[in-house]
Amino acid sequence: MTGEAFSAVDVIRAKRDGGALTDAQIDWVVDAYTRGVVADEQMAALAMAILLRGMTPAETARWTRAMLHSGERLDLSGLPRPTVDKHSTGGVGDKLTLPLAPLVAACGAAVPQLSGRGLGHTGGTLDKLESIPGFRTALTDAEFLDQLRTVGAVVCAASETLAPADRKLYALRDVTGTVESIPLIASSIMSKKLAEGTSALVLDVKVGSGAFMQSLPDARTLAETMVALGEAHGMRTIALLTDMSTPLGRAVGNAVEVAEAVEVLAGGGPADVVELTVTLAREMLAAVGLTAQDPADALADGRAMDVWRAMVTAQGGDPDAPLPQAREVEYLRAETDGVVTRVEARAVGTAAWRLGAGRARKEDPVDPAAGVVLHRTVGDRVRAGDVLCELRTDDPARLPAAQELVAEAMTVAPTPPAAPRELVLDRITSG
Ligand code: URA
Repeated sequence: MTGEAFSAVDVIRAKRDGGALTDAQIDWVVDAYTRGVVADEQMAALAMAILLRGMTPAETARWTRAMLHSGERLDLSGLPRPTVDKHSTGGVGDKLTLPLAPLVAACGAAVPQLSGRGLGHTGGTLDKLESIPGFRTALTDAEFLDQLRTVGAVVCAASETLAPADRKLYALRDVTGTVESIPLIASSIMSKKLAEGTSALVLDVKVGSGAFMQSLPDARTLAETMVALGEAHGMRTIALLTDMSTPLGRAVGNAVEVAEAVEVLAGGGPADVVELTVTLAREMLAAVGLTAQDPADALADGRAMDVWRAMVTAQGGDPDAPLPQAREVEYLRAETDGVVTRVEARAVGTAAWRLGAGRARKEDPVDPAAGVVLHRTVGDRVRAGDVLCELRTDDPARLPAAQELVAEAMTVAPTPPAAPRELVLDRITSG
């Protein structure tokens, strides 16, 4: 007798054979995995069975609840402002958290952003912020709460005590080909967001080559699943499906994305980054009933910039310090006159990663100065010889592979694309 309520092998067999797991089986297997009683190889087999067989909405809800209950849940109810968060499923050039958190705080909400690091072709918000000299992403609970109270915005790493079952399971899925399961992605994201304790959440579900979800129907299913999970736990949850076939903005990397975010906060920056930042800010503010101010005004008049500077300073960074510059810069030039009709997000993300901006394993360091800067993007006219993009790195040996990727990623054609890019593809609410 083991003293355990179930046998891991029985639970794996039940899912392998297409059955639905009971609440008791789910509670046990998530808890037993967190305690180390269910071994990695057993959880890997179960994750693969879930990926292949799926989960019912009831199973997904119970799995999320079990992961949420594997750790502590923050209590933000004592804060003087309503709390709201944004989560992106990850994209190329997606630096939106950087201008968005201070912007929404400038309009009266408190924004606790517990963020992650990049893996593979998508960048991580913490890696980007750490390119600011002195910036600290590891805060104590007391520092986190104090900054929410005084500044209104904080972007830092989640503590080990929030949804520890997900921390362990996500690392396992990453190395066992079991990330791309809608119930597992939805429960992973929502267990962490529910543990964070905000009263509302806006999800930015990316769709396209640079995203986890490559098709609109899959992205819609993921968004609907997450909205239902959030609402079932009393957290107002809205999802936007947004385009990730082309990188967001012009900069892909770490310091280069911070520089672009600062341009947006200064009232400039690329139109797509500004538009999506303001759209998401409006959704976040409406979700907590703060509709008196238009965030576009807070960007234009410098209030969002003031909160950014206060946030960077509170986290040990110097908002005026020069950002790291790469030792090597190489240019890709247009071979013919024409119009840029395609900038393929995944290839540009992979190029930035190859240049050193991302990591292959989670313990690898990142090069803060590495990345890709697009001089032209979809819809821009070019002449032969014009610079299409710039590749930055500290290590020249990394350039050839990245050059090949961006050359393949960008198309210049004689005629413009048939339709302009639509940034927001759909909006999902609980109805
Ligand atoms: N992000 C997460 O936090 N979890 C997933 O499963 C996928 C993306």
